[in-house]
Amino acid sequence: MALILVLDPGHGGKDPGASGNGLVEKNLALDITKRVRTALSSHQVDVKLTRESDVDLSLADRVAYANNLNAGYFLSIHVNAGGGTGFESYVWTGAGGETESLRRAVHMEVSAFYKSAGFPDRGEKKADFYVLRNTKMSAALLENLFVDNKTDAAKLADAGFREEIAKAIAAGLVSALKIQPAAWDPAAEIEKLRADGLINSPHQPLDPVNWGEFATVINRLRGK
Ligand SMILES: [Zn+2]
Repeated sequence: MALILVLDPGHGGKDPGASGNGLVEKNLALDITKRVRTALSSHQVDVKLTRESDVDLSLADRVAYANNLNAGYFLSIHVNAGGGTGFESYVWTGAGGETESLRRAVHMEVSAFYKSAGFPDRGEKKADFYVLRNTKMSAALLENLFVDNKTDAAKLADAGFREEIAKAIAAGLVSALKIQPAAWDPAAEIEKLRADGLINSPHQPLDPVNWGEFATVINRLRGK
């Protein structure tokens, strides 16, 4: 069974989190988190989100969700404010060595990305945050740039940059949790073509393809 990874987009609903430069933390956090899930979709990991939309969700509910799932790891995704710039990560003040080493692996990957984009690494920090203290599994929280800093906000407003943030976070998780790429299953790939009507009959992976079938699949994809 694949590792269960709980991703927690910070805030939501009537709790917007930080805001500045026309940006609202709850929306950025959800967008980045969903992109992380997509970036992990071709990997052997069962990704669950504490929220899928702009809803109220208490800190206790986030923790209960992860604890009830018996998740292997919990990562809360936030955006910072308060007059700084750059990236920082948190584990609980009382976190043990494993939680620290997993966070280090995530932090290294993500901070390297931010450095390459010109943003400072504010460091691997500890705090007595509720979700970090009460989750039973190892947990970390990421603060991705500052909405109230013009330079940071300009990047956060850019969907392409948010995609790069998400890919860096996904790479950090793959490295920290030793997540494997999904196994390649050629028979399942053929079945997907059949299920979508691109081919009419079942085929074995080693069956030869003739030009008539090949042209038919291409034309169906082209909508002709
Ligand atoms: Zn936050």
